[in-house]
Amino acid sequence: MEYWQELISKNFIDGARLARRLRADKKDFCKVAKEYPININPYYLSLIREKHDAIWKQCVPNILEVRQTTGRLDPLLEEAYSPIEGLIHRYDDRVLLYVSNMCAGYCRFCTRKRKVGREEKVLKESDFIKAFRYIARHKAIRDVILSGGDPLLLEDDKIEYYLKHLRKIKHIEVIRIDSRTPCVLPQRITPALCRMLKKYSPIYFNTHFNHFQEITDASTKACNMLADNGIVLGNQTVLLAGVNDDSHVLKRLFEGLLMMRVRPYYLYIPDAVKGTYHFRVSIARALRIMRELIGHTSGMAVPRLIIDLKRGGGKTPLLPKYIIKRKGRRYVFRNFENRIFYYADIE
Ligand code: SF4
Repeated sequence: MEYWQELISKNFIDGARLARRLRADKKDFCKVAKEYPININPYYLSLIREKHDAIWKQCVPNILEVRQTTGRLDPLLEEAYSPIEGLIHRYDDRVLLYVSNMCAGYCRFCTRKRKVGREEKVLKESDFIKAFRYIARHKAIRDVILSGGDPLLLEDDKIEYYLKHLRKIKHIEVIRIDSRTPCVLPQRITPALCRMLKKYSPIYFNTHFNHFQEITDASTKACNMLADNGIVLGNQTVLLAGVNDDSHVLKRLFEGLLMMRVRPYYLYIPDAVKGTYHFRVSIARALRIMRELIGHTSGMAVPRLIIDLKRGGGKTPLLPKYIIKRKGRRYVFRNFENRIFYYADIE
């Protein structure tokens, strides 16, 4: 057994055990766990510095999850865009494969709360064969995302099985892996895994850090190992109320990511998922945060703010308003310092 597997074998999945470890009341934990499973690995749990800090809020169950009646389990209609079990085809040239329902820990804000940790939702070998044939038939698909759950909870040979098959399809140019392990279980990034991934280059790897407290020596080592093996690293952050809805927190996170060779890619408005409403941040607040970032740190440290529109409307970028007036060719801008500038455009 590898070290990362030993670690997850000690995960906290039981409300009573978690309550003992955190010196908290078990009643609420057990109540939430009946609807949404608990799963926290010892490494991620060790990052908690105090009760209700940013790490706690992301992984420790909150009774609000089961008290909320608003929101849907699948607001993005992923199931409706799934022509084959385990494959989501929302955009013409991209598909997402749901290759694992396991994660190194279950995030309380997860968009796929309805699926992660549930036995019956795993992509089976027979489903993958169908998915593979589907991708081969649809020549417009050039980009495949291995997602879940977390694909890196699979063993190396299983991941390689998927990569090997996908690389046989001529029209597949880009393979992406979405994994939170560099952040929540960096021990999963082993030399053997990196050597294997390198064989299927180019691999684009999107990880998921939400707070600077998640940047540690272990996560830095994991990201550097991936980068050293030619894996292109990006990060998707979810804007979460009480966790990171603050430009100072995000600036420190994004600048820290650049130092680990991870480019901040997307900053998401949280999806309207049932059981996660206590994490929601308004669009107005998100735009204010973006204004406080743009121009106040290097452009590379500023991800795109994205809202994934309900009912399958798709990922849509949001930007603070910089053009405040236009008359013919004449524009009036408000710059990042709130100063007014005039600009005459070409004919
Ligand atoms: S790692 Fe990703 S898929 Fe898994 S629970 Fe967290 S957000 Fe959801």
